[in-house]
Amino acid sequence: MDNAHPGPPGSGETMTLEQQTLGLDDESLDFVLQTLKTIAERKLDAETRMRLDAEDTFPSELMQELLGPEVGLHLLFLPEDVGGLGGGGRDLLRVSEEMARIDLGVATAFLAIALGVDPIIVGGTHEQKQRWLGRIAEEGMIVGYAVTEPAAGSNVASLATIAEPITDSEGKVSAYKITGTKQFITNGGVADLYTVLAKTPGGPSFFVVERSAAGIDIGSHEVKHGIRASNTTQVIFEDVEVTADQLIGLEEGHGLNQANAVFGFTRLMVAAFGLGAGEEAIDRAIQYAHERMQFGEILFAKQGFTHKLIVPHVVRLEAARAYCEMIARRLDGGEKGLQVEGAIAKLFATEAGNEAADAAIQAHGGYGYTHEYEVEKIRRDVRITTIYEGTSEILQSIIGTHRWRMNVRSKGQFYRDMAQKVQDSATGTAATLAAQALAELFMLSHTTKLPREQWAMFELARLAAEVETAIQFSLKADEDSSQQSEFFDICARLHGMSAARDVAQTGLRLLLASGRYDSDVIKQWREAAAFEACLAASVGEMALMDRLVEILGR
Ligand SMILES: Cc1cc2nc3c(=O)[nH]c(=O)nc-3n(C[C@H](O)[C@H](O)[C@H](O)COP(=O)(O)OP(=O)(O)OC[C@H]3O[C@@H](n4cnc5c(N)ncnc54)[C@H](O)[C@@H]3O)c2cc1C
Repeated sequence: MDNAHPGPPGSGETMTLEQQTLGLDDESLDFVLQTLKTIAERKLDAETRMRLDAEDTFPSELMQELLGPEVGLHLLFLPEDVGGLGGGGRDLLRVSEEMARIDLGVATAFLAIALGVDPIIVGGTHEQKQRWLGRIAEEGMIVGYAVTEPAAGSNVASLATIAEPITDSEGKVSAYKITGTKQFITNGGVADLYTVLAKTPGGPSFFVVERSAAGIDIGSHEVKHGIRASNTTQVIFEDVEVTADQLIGLEEGHGLNQANAVFGFTRLMVAAFGLGAGEEAIDRAIQYAHERMQFGEILFAKQGFTHKLIVPHVVRLEAARAYCEMIARRLDGGEKGLQVEGAIAKLFATEAGNEAADAAIQAHGGYGYTHEYEVEKIRRDVRITTIYEGTSEILQSIIGTHRWRMNVRSKGQFYRDMAQKVQDSATGTAATLAAQALAELFMLSHTTKLPREQWAMFELARLAAEVETAIQFSLKADEDSSQQSEFFDICARLHGMSAARDVAQTGLRLLLASGRYDSDVIKQWREAAAFEACLAASVGEMALMDRLVEILGR
């Protein structure tokens, strides 16, 4: 790892290696990744992956090996004081990405355990951590995170599962009786332990519940579009009695805060799923395009093919990676929360992963539509990433609300400061224009409270993700001096151009579509936002794409 990393956009801070408190060292992380690859080669070859997918089967044996004493991959996301390895954000990012490249169903099943233990890590007492996390570490237990309900999906707060307190003879709460149905629970039918969100008199609270408890029923296995190697079921709790010390944190009402507190981590994990699956799909498309001859040439020699089906996706995935790396560094530097950044990472990376996988099918033509090249499976698998752990629309709502507030509070300075970070950089010209134009767009939108219209809010959020990834990518490209520096430089410029165009064009559309601004006001906005310059930032884009194809073809 480098010695110094840029801090968050707008923070003006730099993190030193000494400040990085969490996570494995390079050597240990490489060892974990190598172990993962070796097991995958042995136990999860293409034939096995396709069989698990076709038969809709959870790979119990593989999971046992991953959780067994010789591999113990789950130790990565458990703290050191309970026998874990104390992995950090960077480790989670790299392992999730690598697993998603191999098989997103297995990745989901495995990393759902990380999700399941999070409420205990965040909210558990010292004794609870020692007791439950210690057992998970030692016994390699499979954990399920049981939050969603049939009528409480995106709106978790509307949950109906109840944990009714039972008092002893002195009137003290000694136990709880949990009743309710949890929906779409990953590992639902194979877990040894669940972390369950239920309503108590003090509000939503997490409980640790063992599978062996009386009163738990497993619903039928969901037949899914993708990630078919993961087990997804309803879990039904009927008068399931747990002792009071199974209430995480021993205080009622902290469940939603505990869930929110880990969104920086968990959404980074799902962002990495989108990234890994998208990269795998595009790598396969690039390889295929070098082999497939049509009209006397390989497909990769066709400019329309590469500039439509390869280049935009390589650029967006690299932009997503730059943004995810920034979050990982900040988490490893000890920052807490990062809910909005986690939302941006997940929104951008999973949408990019989906688009890339879709393009990979097209790039393979009819063969892409069959099972042979696996890209159609990747496409089906990656589809879930924009749905679970916060749908794209819920993320747009979070991002839009927060960034609107930040812009109003700072009178537009929030994005102007971000622009300033890259305005003198070689790769940041277009990204600077994009950020400045977005500041003007937020400010003008606010004069009529346009973001209260949900569609406008969602579009502003999408633009925020475009701009913030462009800024971050430019910072990364400027800092990079590796052999890949030209590649990053070109990708960052291309992404900045796209962001500048998008803010200008979508901004104009939003203002016109709202019908709230007369032509003079829109003209003033175009000047303030440097509308023409945002479009003109695309000068030279085609040559950059041509050069990127040369680099990718080497
Ligand atoms: C394979 C799989 C595995 C899963 N694993 C788990 C797990 O391990 N644990 C767990 O607890 N849950 C899990 N889930 C549940 C998942 O997190 C939810 O499906 C997800 O949060 C969406 O909830 P929902 O399905 O009820 O959709 P809904 O909330 O009904 O949403 C339907 C659509 O409406 C949109 N929408 C919702 N609210 C709004 C709004 N306010 N404004 C605009 N649009 C809106 C959504 O974006 C979506 O497009 C899993 C789901 C699947 C499919």
